[in-house]
Amino acid sequence: MEDRIDYSVYDYEPTKDNKVNSDNFSLADFLQLNSPNPFLKAEPFYAFIKDMREKGYLSYRRPLLSPCRNRVIIYDESTGKEKEMIMMASNNYLGLSTHPKVVEAGIKAYEKYGSSGSSAPLLSGTFDLTKQLEAKLAKLKSCEDAIVFSTGYSANVGVISALIRNEDVLIIDKLNHASILDGCRLSGADFKVFKHLDMDSLERKLGTCGEYQGKLIITDGVFGMDGDICPLPEIREIASKYGAKVMVDDAHATGVLGKCGKGTAEYFDMEGKIDIAMGTFSKSLAGVGGFVCSTKKIINYIRYYSRSYFFSAALPPCICASVKAALEIMEEEPQLIEKLHQNVRYLHARFTALGFEVNPPLTGVLSVVIGDDLTLRKMSRRIHELGLYINPLPYPSVPKGKSRFKFSLMATHTKQDLDETADIFEKACIEFGII
Ligand code: PMP
Repeated sequence: MEDRIDYSVYDYEPTKDNKVNSDNFSLADFLQLNSPNPFLKAEPFYAFIKDMREKGYLSYRRPLLSPCRNRVIIYDESTGKEKEMIMMASNNYLGLSTHPKVVEAGIKAYEKYGSSGSSAPLLSGTFDLTKQLEAKLAKLKSCEDAIVFSTGYSANVGVISALIRNEDVLIIDKLNHASILDGCRLSGADFKVFKHLDMDSLERKLGTCGEYQGKLIITDGVFGMDGDICPLPEIREIASKYGAKVMVDDAHATGVLGKCGKGTAEYFDMEGKIDIAMGTFSKSLAGVGGFVCSTKKIINYIRYYSRSYFFSAALPPCICASVKAALEIMEEEPQLIEKLHQNVRYLHARFTALGFEVNPPLTGVLSVVIGDDLTLRKMSRRIHELGLYINPLPYPSVPKGKSRFKFSLMATHTKQDLDETADIFEKACIEFGII
């Protein structure tokens, strides 16, 4: 069979020298290519990334040479030199990944237990620290028990596919995180997608479910792209009306929402009213990993039937120790949460004074819509030159024509960091005719 790619999905013919003008493509285009040789699609994609890099548009995988603080040092591949940048692209919302107590706890655990249990958690991968961490998490989320996974991604995939079977039905917000969608796919159940934050749409979807079908509504607590918050009280009420259970992914809400940082339920004064509370360690909690809190019986069931838990190595003890320390700091220093919110409100005020429409300053994320992908890429390059590290969100991570920049704030940003961020952004926006 001929080794060639079918480009007919879009109007493109490869040039003889195999160059791709990246201006005409998005990342999504390369998912549509078909070929009898499954490896061949990597070639035009490689050329696309190469062109992006040569034009200075590629903002991915900039190597950090320093800890992830309010200011970082990166290796700048375009100049071959080190560069200091203001970090506005990390989910380290409370700045705890470099907190001395977090680092010290990790080092001590490293010394005491070594680097890894080298086993699945149900076998020999569980340490006393793992159980202590699970107990702390259950308390944080006002639940009976908790289970920890090696990533937030595997927590979502694992819990959904363990609890939900073919005959059940999942009802999910359109903008939920990809790991929720993947868990739904893996479960084999029918899943219905309701319009983002739209309670009429949720109710309509529930109305089409069978009376005897098991129903689970899943929503992000805080949506990571724009920092909007799910309407939990309404979701709970509708769920009760239709006999559905509720699962909330609090990856971006833990350490951010509520006075004590307990997340979406605390924010709405609904602690203990979520059936399954999920979260990650990779954001406010200064580690890597995920967790799920629920009743003792549900957690016990997940331990034995979640394949991403059962068939994957356990979190290393140093991570358990650091995350446990991060939770203790949240209890001892709640002012960090307030500081994060002060910072978000301050930057929000600076942006709105410039005439930008920005999402309300209620979470750790501010996002500003720019428009098309090419302008976003060009602005990214300029903003990078000016020393600001922010995440561009191009299509397909957001709808076409709604490309945006996302600013992820930290409690440890100073007023000077925030002012410089606003100044750099303003300068770039003026240069590109955005304001
Ligand atoms: N849920 C949400 C809402 C997320 O934003 C993320 C990560 N960005 C995850 C789950 C996955 O978490 P992790 O990175 O810890 O695997």
